[in-house]
Amino acid sequence: MLLIPCVYCGPRDETEFHYGGQAHVPYPENPNDLTDAQWAQFLFYRDNPKGLFAERWLHRTGCRQWFNVVRDTVTYEIHAAYPAGERQPDLSGFTPAPGAATTTPAGADEYPPTTNPVQGSTPKEPAR
Ligand SMILES: [Zn+2]
Repeated sequence: MLLIPCVYCGPRDETEFHYGGQAHVPYPENPNDLTDAQWAQFLFYRDNPKGLFAERWLHRTGCRQWFNVVRDTVTYEIHAAYPAGERQPDLSGFTPAPGAATTTPAGADEYPPTTNPVQGSTPKEPAR
């Protein structure tokens, strides 16, 4: 069982939470200007690293707040939890688990991203 540290309530059992997918995925600035392929890219394509991954969690049965967690996808160890909208903490001193990726995907360390890969413009955080 995973113990997830809600940034507002403290550590709770994972059954209280809802997984929200990859964190720091910018909403396209002008979604109506996207092609169907670009829109599908935004909706369905996410990173799938072996190692550290910033992901969104909703404390569904607790405070009902969204927040972000940096979790090692190999060991399930949680290295950081921080409010939604904040920059991902620096984990450059982190030693990855054996077999895990040693590099961070491009753009994963910058928030807000300086460019939107779909449009090449500055994106906004998705509305919640
Ligand atoms: Zn909470």
